[in-house]
Parts: sequence; C-alpha cells; structure tokens
Amino acid sequence: MPDVEESADPTPHTDNIKVQSSKAFDSAIAVDGTIDFGVRCPTSSRPPTPTYRLCLAHNDPVILKSLRNYKTSSVKFTSSIMSSTPETHDVLIVGAGPAGLMSATTLARMGIRPLVIDADEYAGHQYGRSDAFHSRAMEVMESLGMPMEQLKHAGRKLYGRTFWEISGGRGKRTAYARFYPEFLDFDEDYALCVRQGLIEQVMIHDVEGHYDGFDVQWKWKFVTMELPKEDDATGLSKVVLQHSDSGEERIVFAKYVLACDGARSAVRRWAAPFDVKLDGKALPFTWCVLDAVGLKSDFPDLERLSVIRSEKGIVLIIPREPINGKPAARFDIQLEKSRHEATEEEATKTIKAIFEPFKLEWDEVNWWSSYDVGQRIINKYDVANKVFFLGDVCHTHSPRAGLGLNTAVLEAHNLGWKLGLVLQGRSTPDILKTYASERHNVAKYLIDMDRKLVELYAGLERQTLENFSSDEAGAWLERLRLFQAANYAVCATRLFDDFDIDEPDVQYQAGASIVYEPSSVIRTSSGKVDELTIGQPGVPVGSRTRPAKVTRLSDSIPVAIQPRFDGKFTIYVLVGDLAKPGALDTLVDLDEYVRSTGGSVFKRYGAEVSSATLPISKRMPKSRIPDTTPDSTLTNGTANGHTNGVNGTHKPKKTAIPPGRQLYTYQYDDIPQITDEHIAPAHTLFRTSVVTTTPSSNKVILDDVMDRVYPRAGSPGAENKSRLFHPAHFFCDDIALMSPYRHSAPEAGSIFENQLYGKWAVDKDVGAIIVARPDGHVGLRTEGFGRKAWSELEKYFEGFLV
Ligand SMILES: Cc1cc2nc3c(=O)[nH]c(=O)nc-3n(C[C@H](O)[C@H](O)[C@H](O)COP(=O)(O)OP(=O)(O)OC[C@H]3O[C@@H](n4cnc5c(N)ncnc54)[C@H](O)[C@@H]3O)c2cc1C
Repeated sequence: MPDVEESADPTPHTDNIKVQSSKAFDSAIAVDGTIDFGVRCPTSSRPPTPTYRLCLAHNDPVILKSLRNYKTSSVKFTSSIMSSTPETHDVLIVGAGPAGLMSATTLARMGIRPLVIDADEYAGHQYGRSDAFHSRAMEVMESLGMPMEQLKHAGRKLYGRTFWEISGGRGKRTAYARFYPEFLDFDEDYALCVRQGLIEQVMIHDVEGHYDGFDVQWKWKFVTMELPKEDDATGLSKVVLQHSDSGEERIVFAKYVLACDGARSAVRRWAAPFDVKLDGKALPFTWCVLDAVGLKSDFPDLERLSVIRSEKGIVLIIPREPINGKPAARFDIQLEKSRHEATEEEATKTIKAIFEPFKLEWDEVNWWSSYDVGQRIINKYDVANKVFFLGDVCHTHSPRAGLGLNTAVLEAHNLGWKLGLVLQGRSTPDILKTYASERHNVAKYLIDMDRKLVELYAGLERQTLENFSSDEAGAWLERLRLFQAANYAVCATRLFDDFDIDEPDVQYQAGASIVYEPSSVIRTSSGKVDELTIGQPGVPVGSRTRPAKVTRLSDSIPVAIQPRFDGKFTIYVLVGDLAKPGALDTLVDLDEYVRSTGGSVFKRYGAEVSSATLPISKRMPKSRIPDTTPDSTLTNGTANGHTNGVNGTHKPKKTAIPPGRQLYTYQYDDIPQITDEHIAPAHTLFRTSVVTTTPSSNKVILDDVMDRVYPRAGSPGAENKSRLFHPAHFFCDDIALMSPYRHSAPEAGSIFENQLYGKWAVDKDVGAIIVARPDGHVGLRTEGFGRKAWSELEKYFEGFLV
C-alpha cells in the first residue's frame, strides 16, 4: 500500500499535484481515481487553501481515510500513488444493506478488502424494515464475534407469542406458545427484535475492526459492467459507477462482483441478457406496517409478539426496541386497498378499531410502509461464476415470517468463505458454484413457505371479517397456529395431516433445518442428501453443528466447541472413551500418520502460522481504553508533551478510541500458551479439536494423554509437535447437561453426561471425524476416527483445495 506521510517541509510536492477547485480537504471525495483536498495552515482556523487534486493508483479507503484525517499540516506523497493504474479490487460489493455488509465482514476476516458502494446514504437505512433476527443468523453473527450483546440489550427478545380475540367489548388470550422449541438447540433460542439500521451499524463497525480504513462509499451506484473476455488472463470485470448526486462516472475493475443491491437490483437488470430473471407473481394483498413511538396503552401483551383478532380485522404486534428514547411497537395489518391508496391515517384508524376497547395512543409514527406481496425468485444465482446475486436481489416475499434479512445474512456467509478461499489461492473457483446449488434450494423453500403463510393469514382475515365466530374462522386460526408452530419446528407431522401442511415446512424459520446437498464441499457416505430428523439429536452432513461446552485440557476452562469464524475448517476428532482398550492406541496411531508428511493435510494445503509472526498483542483482544498519553495540547505543560508536575494537565488524545468496537478480534485457539514453542503452531486453513468422553480427572488423561500433550524430552511424541495432542485443542466432554431433546426424543435420555456426544449423536464406542466448514456446516462425517477415517478426510479436501 502506498504511504501517505507527514513532511517536515510545509510545501506540498506540487510537481505531483495539480491545483483544482476549492474543495475542503476533509470533505474530499474520491472521483475516478482522484481525490480533491486542501491544506490547512496549522495555526489558523480558516478554511484550507489552496486545494489540490491527487491521482490515486488505488482508490484505497485506507489512503482516503488517512487523507481525510490529515488536516493540520502538509503532505508528501510517494510516487506509487501517482501512477495511472486503473482502480482494481478483488471484490466489488454493490449495495450496503445486510447482504453487502455481511459479505464485507466475512471477507475482511479472511484478509480480503472489498470495495463496498451504495447508491444511497446510511441515513436512508436508519429506521424501519426488518425487525426480527432469528436464531441461526444470530449464531452466525456470534461466531463472527460481532458485538451482539449490544443488539441484545437494545432489542426485544421474542420467547413467546400470544393469540388474542377481542369481541363484544371484551378481549381474551386464546393461546400461548413458546417462540422456538428447545430442541432446535440454539444458545439463543428466541427471535431478537431490533431494527435493521442498528444491525447494519454493528456490521459496519465490525468490518472496520478487521479492515483498517474501511468505509462504505455511499452515493455511488452501479450502472453497468463488462465481463472479462475468455482470453483475458486478468479475469477482471469493468464496472461503471456513477455518483448519485454529481452524476460523475467512475470506472472500477473487479475480479468478482457481488450484487447486493436489493429488490430492484440494477445488477440483475444488467444480467437480463444472460437469461437472469425473477420468476413468480404478485399476490392480491396489501399490507401496512407502522412503527408507533411513544406508546401509551392498557393492552397487556405489547411486550411480546401477539396476534389479535377482532371483528374489525387482524393485527400482528411486534415489540420494538425503544426508538428515540420512547417505548415503541410495530403494528402489521392487511388492508382492503391497493398499496397506492393506503394511507397512514387509515392504517392508524383500523389498528385502533381492532384494539377497542383497549386504549392505544402514540406520539408519532416513526416509519410506515404499505406493500403488495410479490413472491418472486431469481432463476440463477450467478453469471459466469464472476457475478453473484445475494439477498433481496434473489428473492422477494412477504415480511410476515421475518426472513429477508436473515436469509441475506446466511447467503453472504455461505459465499464469503468460499470466495475468501479462492482469492487466497487455496481453492479453485469451482467451489463458488456450490453457493448457487446450496442457496438456491433454500430460497425456493423460503418462497414456498411464505406463500403458505400469506394464504393462511389472508384466509383467516377473510373469515374473521365475514363471520368472526364461525367454525371456519376457528379452523383457519388453528391452521395458522399449527403452521407457525411447524415453522418454528414442532415435530408432529400427524398434527398437520388435517390441514394439508407439509412436513418439510418444519423448523425452517429459525434456520435450524437447512441441510445442504452433496457437492465438492458436502461429502456424504451414500452420495445422497443426509437426513435430519426434527427434534432428534444428531448432526447430519450438510447441517449446522450444534452448540456444546467441553473442558479444555490446557486450562480446564469450559469452552464452546463451535469456533469463531476465521475462514478455517475445524476437524473434530471424536475419539470416545480413551480409557477403553485400544482407543488411545488408535489415536496415537492416527497421530503418527498425521505427523508424517504423507498423511498431513496441514503440509499439503495452507501454511503454518509461526507464533513468532503473531505477537501476543495481535492475538489478544484489542483494548478500547482511551490512550491518555499526553500530547502537545497540554494546557500548561512542556512543549514536548511530557507532563511536568502539577503544571501538566493533559487531555486525552481525541483519536485514541478506535472507531467501532474492537474487543472481539481474538480466536479462542489463538490464545497464546506459555508453552507455545513446544506445541504445534496454528494453521491458516485447519484447526483440530480432539474430544474424548473420558473425564479430565481420569488417570488416562492425567498420565497418558498429558504426557503426549506436553511431551518432555524422551517421552512419546517429543520429536515432533502434534496437532492431535495439543493442549489448546484437546477437550473432555465431561460437562453434563439436561437434554434439549428430552421431550421430543426421550429415548436419548433426559441428561446428557457427555453433551457433545449426546447432541451430535456420536457413538462413543466408535467415534467419528467430523469436518465443519468455516460456516459451521458439516462437510464430512466418518465412522470411526482411525487412519481409514482420515483417508476419507484427505479425499474430501482433495475435492476442492489446491
Ligand atoms: C416492512 C418490512 C419488514 C421486514 N421485516 C423483516 C424481518 O423481520 N426479518 C427479516 O429478516 N427481514 C425483514 N424484512 C426484509 C429485509 O428488510 C430485507 O430482506 C433486507 O433488507 C435485504 O437485504 P439486502 O442487503 O439484500 O437488500 P437491501 O437492504 O435492500 O439493500 C440494498 C442496498 O443496495 C443499494 N442499492 C440499490 N441500487 C443500487 C445501485 N444501483 N448501486 C449501488 N447500490 C444500490 C440500496 O441503497 C441498499 O442500501 C422486512 C422488510 C420490510 C419492508
């Protein structure tokens, strides 16, 4: 990266810089590879003058940010900035909504620095739209180490839902249900209501934490692009962007373009000649959503999700985080008008009429929208394996199930690690095809589920208005209730027989039911898709792993077995009970093989990360404590900035607190060990987690295993550093847990003495090797954990790593 450095010489190098307009340095904008700036006189508060235009080789946000921050002195530029190289990026992300930002943060963690543009500005994202974060999306956000506790604190947690009927001037609850059943097995088993703008803010801060100088380039829109010709070795697409205000055009080149530009996507329009289109239709319903702020009401269930039915219609209440410091809730109703005829006044009148006799007042409507429901799905998820479609670009549907943002997040997560591997040179671009094959199926399912949900709401609405107390209205209500229960995962197919509800509908909404089909990155023993049985323990190939706490051998700390996202594969070697005759021998034998050159995927792919190149400071959480080192702004101190007795009152440096939150940058397996030099270093592509059911207090662990984990001279394995006998990656599954499946699968027992083996349904007499992909989905599961199982693992990685 070119330098921008301070010069002792106050005169800018005018031979490299030509004078342009009178724009201020701090409002500098990057236009077509150039940047306008001015130079402030250090002692004057007058506007900067003169102003210069600098040609940038790379429109690198780091440079832009440095320049913007640089107000008080002169600048000197190295010549590399001045070259006429076109602006080139590995990845261009079009659109800074949830799909775009999640893509950026996933890539940034893998060292890729995408350019993110958006036609709008952040202010346009502040309020409204999405309100519910489901468990799987939260699990993914947690795995990225995002500051979820802030969102959780700000938002409303949906643990339950009530159904109400108001009739004849009286209201009563007719049903209550838990939002997600326990057997979905999430650490966060609720939906979190928090507005989309906050989620996006957290994502932006998160990218900043992993990509120094990151900025979304707001107000730049995608116009068109040209794909690279077949014989073009650069593989770069040429993209035309335009500034939304000035109309100025700018050309950028990118290896990959991610179309995250929402339901009216310009990139999708561009792709029409490649036979890309949306299939589906608009439904004859109009809905209105209204965020009411400063609520005053005597209705008792405004703090949880409620469906209220009265002779005047149906309203769905979604609790919201306080907005502008006032209590708030979202109201969602169906209207008899077209979207264009619907008004906020009419929606307000209808909602209040449904609530009568309950009082319902608010100070202001913070955001409202009326919309027709179009259920449409894109027919292709990519063009030429170069341009990928994500989020609302691919699917539009009703917000009733609250899944648009959630799906966008999971799509970005799925594509992000694959693209990261390709750009790191660790996989061939073929792996990118699995993005389409995996996510297109999920999107089809989403649209199908949404269609049924919308029909159920509409049928109930119709019957409610026609004949509120009829049996038919009751039957529609029951259908809706069951369908929603199914979505949140009730495993009772028999309940649905009467109502024509398909079994596959179960468990979709929380994101627990996704099982990817076999491909280069999903290898099942049968070659067919693995079965996930709802409500039963087990992690079939293609599904997500499930959370469990195990005891880490090095420090006896109970730790989560699901790692943080860092683009690595986790190889779980599940060895069962090592006290069982032969089990330790099998592990030792495998260890010998893995440490040999031939058996080691660690030598064949990726690289070792020497602990010497990763100083402890880089591996631990970054401090946010403001740097109070005195600077030259001493009010009454010495000029060189050193405090000098009582005269030295000093101000904290304004820049000391880094932007965004940065306390979440470490991986548990990166935590330095005092014995670092004696143990195997980290690896760029793989982490191992060996898990035994033998308790940490057992003699086999204390003697035989520990001797290998911390080998002394002359003890077994001392000549070579083992990745299987590794103190930070060896775990005892000895923390008992009440089974989350005790009601749905009582045969598995009420208590899991070995929670990981219990939840993942691993036979401790046989063991297994389970490979979790960077996104936490199981890519491979073997019977047993010996050399034969390891050779299956080698074949798995041969399928896509280079
Ligand atoms: C009322 C309502 C309630 C909802 N509730 C939920 C919910 O509870 N849960 C849920 O998961 N989802 C919900 N959604 C859906 C959710 O808001 C969307 O699915 C989500 O925003 C999709 O994210 P995205 O990144 O794909 O697209 P968007 O958020 O639409 O972002 C696209 C971005 O691209 C930019 N852009 C557009 N054109 C261009 C261009 N030519 N060049 C550059 N940039 C461009 C736009 O400015 C925008 O910032 C709701 C939606 C609505 C309307």
